[in-house]
Amino acid sequence: MAFELPPLPYDYSALEPTIDAQTMKLHHDMHHGAYVKNLNAALDKYSNLQSKSAEDLIRDLNSIPEDIRATVRNNGGGHVNHSMFWKIMKPKAGGEPSGAIADAIKKYFGTFKDFQTKFNDAGAKQFGSGWVWLAGKPDGSVQIMSTPNQDNPFSQGLFPIMGNDVWEHAYYLKYNNRRPEYLQAWWTVVNWEEINHRYEKLKSGQHEPALASR
Ligand code: MN
Repeated sequence: MAFELPPLPYDYSALEPTIDAQTMKLHHDMHHGAYVKNLNAALDKYSNLQSKSAEDLIRDLNSIPEDIRATVRNNGGGHVNHSMFWKIMKPKAGGEPSGAIADAIKKYFGTFKDFQTKFNDAGAKQFGSGWVWLAGKPDGSVQIMSTPNQDNPFSQGLFPIMGNDVWEHAYYLKYNNRRPEYLQAWWTVVNWEEINHRYEKLKSGQHEPALASR
């Protein structure tokens, strides 16, 4: 069974003015589309891997045959990351978080504003292409981290609760080289309901990450 590009859950223009329609179309159709296509091509001769979820593939990269490991890391990661990304955004969203994730942010970062500042700072400092994450463990603990390329916290035994894409393809048409401006604006389209849903999933053990040291 081949992986499929999930449809955007809203129109290309739905996140304007924060993210412009052309960026969304290119980002979803072309960039995410290419990750899915490349992942399927890599798994073509490995039928034993075709029943695994993309998350499971990147959880244990050492178990992936060496000739396709880098391709699965980059494109499996790209598929997992972007499938999350479209869902943790929505039009007319943002504002202060509520529910369990708001409690976790308060516990680990003090205020929401402190959390935002640290998250934006980690995203701004990620050199070159990558992602900035709020990642967690099943015990409910959370941490901010950044990863290069399409790497995902799953590969380090952590669960990606939320993440922002800091590849230039995510913001360059509208924000040019002003990544910090994009990072700041992004909070107006953050879907806290979906992020709470992911955090609850983590804590209930439905997405227990593999041990990174395995
Ligand atoms: Mn991207």
